[in-house]
Amino acid sequence: MGSEIRLRTRSADETREVGAAIARALVPGDVVSLTGDLGAGKTTLVQGSARELGVTDPVASPTFVLVREYRGSLPIYHVDVYRLERIQEVLDLGFEDLLDPHGVVFIEWGGAIEGLLPDSHLEVELHALEGDEEREVAVRARGPGWAARWVDLSGSLGSWRAA
Ligand code: ADP
Ligand code: MG
Repeated sequence: MGSEIRLRTRSADETREVGAAIARALVPGDVVSLTGDLGAGKTTLVQGSARELGVTDPVASPTFVLVREYRGSLPIYHVDVYRLERIQEVLDLGFEDLLDPHGVVFIEWGGAIEGLLPDSHLEVELHALEGDEEREVAVRARGPGWAARWVDLSGSLGSWRAA
């Protein structure tokens, strides 16, 4: 079966629901890396996750700061390393110093700093399909930290599974 599930969403709200389902599986210290082109839906998915975790503030890509922090049922950190200087900031700071064992981190364009991510993390790759609102969302578990949770997570994402 492998630790990957491929999903299909048909609207931004459906992608937010996928984000919410992912959020329900998260525990403190988790890292979720999001990849996919500009406009693929990375921020949209994080919006759904944040809302599920009790965040009421609006969630947008952190353009002017490296990390944006939201207060929910636990601290939520939102990072976007699209710009080269952001990658450099993470390199300078060290990814570990960005991590809070009590919170969860969502990192857009996380593939750009793949080697700095902790061994165990969740990878979400989004692709636009032909229709304006259709997206393919691949969710992959990396490292041992997800092994015990994968069956539950993939089950909870089952209703969006691509045919
Ligand atoms: P990214 O962070 O990957 O650059 P955004 O989430 O900021 O992308 O933007 C995605 C845009 O596409 C939003 O305007 C959103 O409303 C729209 N959209 C349309 N359909 C979908 C979908 N199925 N999933 C996610 N976003 C969608
Ligand atoms: Mg974004």
